[in-house]
Amino acid sequence: MENLKTSFMTSNGEVQAVRGVSFEVRRGEIVGIVGESGSGKSITNMTLLKLLPDTAVIKDGRAMFQGQDLTKLSMKELRKIRGEKIAMIFQDPMSSLNPLIPVGEQVAEIIRIHHSDRSREAVKQEVLKRFAEVRIPEPEKRYHAYPHEFSGGMRQRVMIAMALANNPELLIADEPTTALDVTIQDQIIRQMRELKEQHGTSIIFITHDLGVIAELCEKVEVMYGGLIMEEAPIDELFEHPSHPYTLGLLESMPSIQQDKAERLIPIPGSPPDMTNPPAGCPFAPRCRYARKICAAELPELQPVGEGHSARCWLLDPEAPAEQNPFKKR
Ligand code: SF4
Ligand code: MG
Repeated sequence: MENLKTSFMTSNGEVQAVRGVSFEVRRGEIVGIVGESGSGKSITNMTLLKLLPDTAVIKDGRAMFQGQDLTKLSMKELRKIRGEKIAMIFQDPMSSLNPLIPVGEQVAEIIRIHHSDRSREAVKQEVLKRFAEVRIPEPEKRYHAYPHEFSGGMRQRVMIAMALANNPELLIADEPTTALDVTIQDQIIRQMRELKEQHGTSIIFITHDLGVIAELCEKVEVMYGGLIMEEAPIDELFEHPSHPYTLGLLESMPSIQQDKAERLIPIPGSPPDMTNPPAGCPFAPRCRYARKICAAELPELQPVGEGHSARCWLLDPEAPAEQNPFKKR
């Protein structure tokens, strides 16, 4: 993705949801995108597949996938890529499943759209194989069951089976574990890892939970106000966080070693209104380190280490050393 910009045209004006986002996902790599709701992380990825409402406009940028710019493809061309080469899973499986059709048939349909030459029986066998892969018990029986007969966790497995139906090369998972309890969350994360190991699938994993990112991802993009605030290999991010927003996310992360009730510090305030995005750093109103320049000018993303960059005035060579958590390095 290069300099991707997406806006919504509303009666209140232009909402700049994504304001110039660039990052790369390699083959077989799991990249996490983390940020609070409203940070632009979902819209960035929906822009890739043009799964956007009519009010949305892609204003600039490219999204290159195997030599093609996805933002330039027609809906027909994109439909061919969607579900076959790039698949998505969302937080709420119920809204993506048809309540009136047995789940097995719904997964079969996805395969048939892209492989009309395959026999009914061959497609059914493929679906059963997928169900077994995502550990749906008694696949043969479950094939004919309806969505309401599944638990939330089981429905999410059906969604994963559906996403994997055609062996996609890129899987975009948008908060797929958020509504699930911790045990099922762990199983889903394990499945994502297996998928990458067995099929070399690339995964973009969107979440507000740095804990999930820590368990799964190799690289992380921290988003805020429609911008990437920090990008780093996962270990680097935890060892040398280089942005006040990342520090805030880390402090608000529950940890098993710490007494949760005492140590959890949420970031005060809320994300900016993107109808009138601030001229300077969008995090300035909530940042304990904000100085005069922060509200006036947007800092550039600048390198701070191997594969590691961040967007903050504290990283500027001219920045004062006192009250500066990033000067010590
Ligand atoms: Fe805080 Fe300023 Fe850095 Fe923004 S640029 S995160 S306001 S110190
Ligand atoms: Mg979202």
